[in-house]
Amino acid sequence: MHRRLFVPGSAAAALLMLAIPASAADFQPGAPGIGDPYYPDYGNGGYDISHYDLRLKYQPGTDRLDGTATLLAQATQDLSRFNLDFALDVKEILIGGKRAQFKATGDHEVEVTPPAGIEKGKNFTVVVRYGGTPGKVEVSGFTSWLRTPDGGVAANEPESAWWWFPSNDHPTDKATYDVNVSVPDGTQAISNGTLQSERSQAGWTRFAWRSNKPQATYLATLAVGKFDITKDTTANGLPVINAYSKDLGDNAGAARASIERTAEVTEYLETVFGPYPYNSLGGYVPNVTTGYALETQTRPFYSPRQFANGSNVSVVVHEMAHQWYGDSVSVKGWKDIWVNEGFARYSQWLWSEKEGEGTTQELADYVYASHPADDAFWKVAPGDPGPENQFHLAVYDRGAATLQALRNEIGDKAFFELLKTWPAERAHGNGSNADLIALAEKISGKELDALFQTWLYATEKPAAPAAKRSAAAPEQPKSWKKIAATNGVHAH
Ligand SMILES: [Zn+2]
Repeated sequence: MHRRLFVPGSAAAALLMLAIPASAADFQPGAPGIGDPYYPDYGNGGYDISHYDLRLKYQPGTDRLDGTATLLAQATQDLSRFNLDFALDVKEILIGGKRAQFKATGDHEVEVTPPAGIEKGKNFTVVVRYGGTPGKVEVSGFTSWLRTPDGGVAANEPESAWWWFPSNDHPTDKATYDVNVSVPDGTQAISNGTLQSERSQAGWTRFAWRSNKPQATYLATLAVGKFDITKDTTANGLPVINAYSKDLGDNAGAARASIERTAEVTEYLETVFGPYPYNSLGGYVPNVTTGYALETQTRPFYSPRQFANGSNVSVVVHEMAHQWYGDSVSVKGWKDIWVNEGFARYSQWLWSEKEGEGTTQELADYVYASHPADDAFWKVAPGDPGPENQFHLAVYDRGAATLQALRNEIGDKAFFELLKTWPAERAHGNGSNADLIALAEKISGKELDALFQTWLYATEKPAAPAAKRSAAAPEQPKSWKKIAATNGVHAH
């Protein structure tokens, strides 16, 4: 409320009221979380970020990371204060060139008080100078900064950004990126998108990477180490940039024999999902000891262990399918995770069928038959698995079986139309389970609540398999082991 100083007459008072700017009391702090019930303090309220400019320097020997992040933001409320998600030490924050006050709160938050309130709708620039040794910074007992003998890697889900740049850390606030990293000569820095330049000066090489399409914070990646980088172009002229640690040992050949097929896999997936949403593609394999892969945008992360038993193109299919389902169309909330993982897993089944190693129906039948009714697998509802089961096998396999059941219910024509319509309608945006179900009903003209209730939300084994016929002891499809080898996306 404005304090009225005097009452000279109603008309004059009205004029005076109009002339008084909103007082400081109208400006409120942005919420410390963006409102995701799975992770209440992830992301932040009160602003949106449109671009991250990260200028970093990393020393592999000491794991020292220093950086300046420039964030282009817009206030979504009258803002007296706001939070950033970040776990390294902040040295200085400037807003519009003026020094702002800040303090670390919680285990991964920085509370920033600008020199003056920021009006709703106003664009503002935040410059954050920071540094630290990310491999030593633990939040809730873990770090997503994976140290390697020759450097370090940021790749995890949903927590990854905290260890290398300050952000609004939730998939609903996507932005474009310039990631500029200085590393000692002879070492490489890998990130998302296109490599704009690579220049050496005074013993340091600066790699400039650009993501020109909106990208979720957890899909931004950074890897520093000694890599062999391969460059090619697709038939459509897109740059393909792959990077392999020089230190992959016995897994080197199998890793290359898989990831060098990324362009071929992407062309196949275009026939299923429509045009590839980005202007660059590839993959990278640092010499980490983890076992998972992650769909980091345009350039998935693969652990060497993915290739310990030989080549695995199926994992490339999974991660590239995410470029449509997960990256271009991201979750609205983390409970929507099955839309990412169910479709990525189903794309592996489609690839298996194309390769003559088991049809999608055979794979769905095998999943159904493999888990008896009392198996914990059926206690996890893929449509709302809870944060503790966000990456449970059921989200993947039961999620994919849900799609087979849907396909049988609505027919191939409507099903494959759905696969292309979702990424076309929501490109570079977000979508929820409810949005997807609504689209499936719209395209098919069928009421599908019962089907999705049975397959996505009930915590018991569906009474019949996806094809509503008996699947008595189906044989294990040939592709099964390669697909199963891609399970376990999550590190901690
Ligand atoms: Zn996945």
